Amino acid sequence: MLTAAREVSVFGDAIAYFNEAASLLDLDPGMRRLLTHPSRQIIFSIPFQRDNGELEVYTGYRVQYNFARGPAKGGIRYHPGVTLDEVTALAFWMTWKCAVVDLPFGGGKGGVTCDPTTLSPRELERITRRYAAELVEVVGPDKDVPAPDVGTTPQVMAWFMDTYAMHKREYTPGVVTGKPLEVGGSRGRVEATGRGVSLVALAQMQEMGIQTKDARVVVQGFGNVGSIAARMFADQGCKIVGISDVTGGYHNERGIDVAGAIAYAQEHHSLDGYRGGERISNAAVLELPCEVLVPAALENVLTIENAPRVQAKLIVEGANGPTTPEADHMFAQRGIVVIPDILANAGGVTVSYFEWAQDRAGYFWRESEVNERLAEVLLENFKRVRDVASLRHVPLRTAAYILAIDRVVRSMNVRGVYA
Ligand code: GLU
Repeated sequence: MLTAAREVSVFGDAIAYFNEAASLLDLDPGMRRLLTHPSRQIIFSIPFQRDNGELEVYTGYRVQYNFARGPAKGGIRYHPGVTLDEVTALAFWMTWKCAVVDLPFGGGKGGVTCDPTTLSPRELERITRRYAAELVEVVGPDKDVPAPDVGTTPQVMAWFMDTYAMHKREYTPGVVTGKPLEVGGSRGRVEATGRGVSLVALAQMQEMGIQTKDARVVVQGFGNVGSIAARMFADQGCKIVGISDVTGGYHNERGIDVAGAIAYAQEHHSLDGYRGGERISNAAVLELPCEVLVPAALENVLTIENAPRVQAKLIVEGANGPTTPEADHMFAQRGIVVIPDILANAGGVTVSYFEWAQDRAGYFWRESEVNERLAEVLLENFKRVRDVASLRHVPLRTAAYILAIDRVVRSMNVRGVYA
């Protein structure tokens, strides 16, 4: 039987979450209209020469969603699935993410529709430089500050920064964050997102009376966020019973040796062939019995189809937008607590903020200082979100949006709308 496919707009789903909170806030209709439109969307072609001389043309995007609280801020994604709709949703989420942890930034996101795993380092550099060159006039420490996201790395940020510096004839490390330490990166930035995920998860586990010792944790996605989060959970005594990446899932009731899995993935560029767990499907990983499930890959993996079979007590969104609104409602009905992306994975952009501040001051912090301040920012704002949730009897996601929208609207009201 043919069933009509659900019309998937990532931005549409993101707006649904926003609207729930906006209704509870009694947001003025004009303000609601304004906040559901991106400030600026830029689309351009990237002529790109392959190592064999062939000329190809890729599409690049940068969406600057909101500037109320500061320069736009958010990563650059290199992935075959990148579209304007996706980049807009991600820029929208960055707006609320920065606000929920009270950073002086708006929201932005960029991307190139490409598969970086098929590109040589020289090809990756050429794409990055042309992408950066197209954006020279619209980015900058006081305009828009990119960072890594899926498919991009500190090295890509270094090329971005260098291209900007060449065009501007000026060393400006604060134009981009997530850089290598040699060119103004911050200590602790690489681990920051995964560290943040585990910090808020552990705080919520304590709240729910889930003992960390031997708590079963499943991590879907084994990139920068998932692998580091898994390591931090394991360091706290949790048992990582399932991991996965694009090549499949790996299940081990006795606990996966996370350091071993990270070393394996580094050496083989994926978990393919990993023998530290029984091989299962990607779909099965999300349905494993566990206390904590961490989706840490891409959007829309928890849907109305699989939500009834999810067995976790707590879902911690390491990825941006892993849960569709329908699945989210089902989790609420089933009493499964969800720590939303805009809070759970805000550790990355928080240390990006520290990096931006260090670059501007030209004075760099010790790693312990970075980690301490990261924990302080995340846990303080997590507590605020929890307070809103209990005061208004709403799930953590709605509470996080309420707190974030309120902060953005306050800035907009004080500045006034130039209309
Ligand atoms: N790409 C990351 C995110 O989605 C980090 C953004 C940043 O550091 O600006 O939060």
